[in-house]
Amino acid sequence: MLVTLLNRPHDVTIVSRSEPEEIPPGFVRVAIKSVGICGSDVHYYEKGRIGDFVLRSPMVLGHESAGIVDQVGEGVSLVPGQVVALEPGIPCRRCRYCLSGHYNLCPDVKFFATPPVDGALQEYVVHPAQFTFPAEGLSPDEACLAEPLSVGVYAARRASVGLGDKVLVIGAGPVGLATAFASEAQGGEAALTDVASNRIATARAAGFSASFFNSEMTGKYDVVFECTGTQSGISDAQRALRPGGVLALIGMGQPETMQLNGLDLNVRGITVIGIFRYANTYPSALALIRRYRDRMKVFQGSYVDMTDLPQFLADRGYQHYVKTIVHVK
Ligand SMILES: [Zn+2]
Ligand SMILES: [Zn+2]
Repeated sequence: MLVTLLNRPHDVTIVSRSEPEEIPPGFVRVAIKSVGICGSDVHYYEKGRIGDFVLRSPMVLGHESAGIVDQVGEGVSLVPGQVVALEPGIPCRRCRYCLSGHYNLCPDVKFFATPPVDGALQEYVVHPAQFTFPAEGLSPDEACLAEPLSVGVYAARRASVGLGDKVLVIGAGPVGLATAFASEAQGGEAALTDVASNRIATARAAGFSASFFNSEMTGKYDVVFECTGTQSGISDAQRALRPGGVLALIGMGQPETMQLNGLDLNVRGITVIGIFRYANTYPSALALIRRYRDRMKVFQGSYVDMTDLPQFLADRGYQHYVKTIVHVK
């Protein structure tokens, strides 16, 4: 089978590997069909590292994946032929974080395409059935969005967005859009801001109110989701909150570009929540795709065959689209 290997920064090759043949009890073999390209894949491609995760040997890219069940191990209720979305992080299921339901914080999680763990840009993946979710009625191109949408589902849940809440999302990339959809599904009125007019246009095409940040937004929102990790994004987010509001930090920047004004948080009684990945979100994310299927067409429109991916990455073809989806076969 063919797999997409990141050998070192700016060096991706499509190579042949033997197909995984053994399917242990509780596992399924999935024929991968669609894999979304994420900012983190691009980051490993450009720099070979994200924080403490450093590429030291060739790794398969991709973590936003969906495909078709091909074979099942013992004790699995999924059946061959079903379209499924694969949750990319497999936690230890024993530590205190796993046992308390916060498995996104598991120190021993094995996450697709996070060195040294191989990702899903390959023809077949053997995956625990527990982390493989049926996506009835969805195509693999739609189902692979369950991964970026999970971040939004988890964030809206953690921030307890409620009916009629005024919600502002700073940063209208895929995760910002996901957070806006999830907030709306929980009854919030979501608007987005961005510094780029093309992303504002995309957010509007998805049916949201969107604009540059402006002073009229000050002190107005019950919940603000910061999805840029930039200092201006963080400062705008804090400014936009009403007293007693909730600030959720999703965007990952540098420590020096993510400074909060502690005194303001203090005197205005603002709650700050850190959002890292997600837990227990896949069924909700798939339901979100079904509900907003038409508006989520903004995520569709850029596709590349896996064999053309090395050139596509070299040309930075992904930067023109909100999301590019790789077709594996
Ligand atoms: Zn992603
Ligand atoms: Zn754990």
